Amino acid sequence: MKRNLKPETVAAGNGIATDETYGAVTPPIYLSSTFAFEGFERSGPYDYSRTANPSRALLADTIARLEGGSGAIITCSGMSAVDLLLSRLSADELVVAPHDCYGGTYRLLANRSERGHFSVSFVNQADETALAAAMEQYPALVLIETPSNPLMRVVDIERISKRAKDVGAKVAVDNTFLTPALQRPLSLGADYVIHSTTKYLNGHSDVVGGALVCAEASEVEEFASWANITGVTGAPFDSYLTLRGVRTLFPRMGRQQSNAKHIASYLNKHPQVSVVHYPGLPDHPGHRIAGRQQSGFGAMLSFELKGGVAAVRPFVEALSVFTLAESLGGVESLAAHPASMTHLGMGASAREAAGIGDGLLRLSIGVEAVNDLITDLEEGFGAIQDRTAA
Ligand SMILES: *Cc1c(COP(=O)(O)O)cnc(C)c1O
Repeated sequence: MKRNLKPETVAAGNGIATDETYGAVTPPIYLSSTFAFEGFERSGPYDYSRTANPSRALLADTIARLEGGSGAIITCSGMSAVDLLLSRLSADELVVAPHDCYGGTYRLLANRSERGHFSVSFVNQADETALAAAMEQYPALVLIETPSNPLMRVVDIERISKRAKDVGAKVAVDNTFLTPALQRPLSLGADYVIHSTTKYLNGHSDVVGGALVCAEASEVEEFASWANITGVTGAPFDSYLTLRGVRTLFPRMGRQQSNAKHIASYLNKHPQVSVVHYPGLPDHPGHRIAGRQQSGFGAMLSFELKGGVAAVRPFVEALSVFTLAESLGGVESLAAHPASMTHLGMGASAREAAGIGDGLLRLSIGVEAVNDLITDLEEGFGAIQDRTAA
């Protein structure tokens, strides 16, 4: 595919109509685990699918182009993409991670540091003093997640990257929540982008996968080699499905974001809601930074029910368009209760420190008719009132 095409065109068209065998418009899937040698001591472009596979390579190329990177490594989950990034650290090196990072990332960092693989410091990166103190320890890697899960806190990628560069640290941004459709961290100074492709990039809740995108070509090679050594590369079928999802990334994101905007303002005016966390709301603390570094506010939000934890059960039990489930980023709308689901493993005190209350609900907004979503939430609120009246 030509260079200099707009990202929408790359997402929809990378690899389209390139099949030289039959002229297939949609690129074929190559499930083969092994590839014939062209001759004695002469391998073809592919030899074994753990190392490299054409379907996986096309997905990697597409995601790398969208992020503006030199290349990408497609892994079998978002967690294995994070772990691949951490694999290069040594025992005397320090990782600075957000205090409110994704639960699985928190658990991985904590476990690896307990085993002495590296040290980790969890820092509120929006707190200038805490960030400055962390940088004084000369970290090897600074991990950023913005917006954060589930409170949608926003941090300034460009500013943190600059601080990190000043002390010689590499910067990785987990861009799962926004995708390159809405945020491109490499253009803001990051060295790596991590994705759980399970979420928006695939977008149909039928694949678990990940990607590590690198700014530098030499690093792509290094990480690809390590992914082959450890065998964490993604399956061809998953790559095929994810690529199918990526083709509609922009229209899905546009629709989901527009639905989310309506729902955020509906919730913001609701008498049974104490606070809405959505960076698109003008009173959100990260609104200004998000407006500058993102090209949209995304389709994730969370809010606190006034009735606290007692209100959560009747509310979620009354929902029928929203499904009570973990994960996010699919075309279908999901509701999650972080305290009992995604963030249960964190423990009550860490949740409290991170500001995750027991009455907090997180919504992943899908592509449905927005009025049906609002009616569904209305039924949830009605069920709380019925419960209190009874
Ligand atoms: C889901 C998620 C991950 C982990 O990805 P898996 O595909 O579930 O392994 C990492 N970071 C963020 C922000 C996520 O939402």
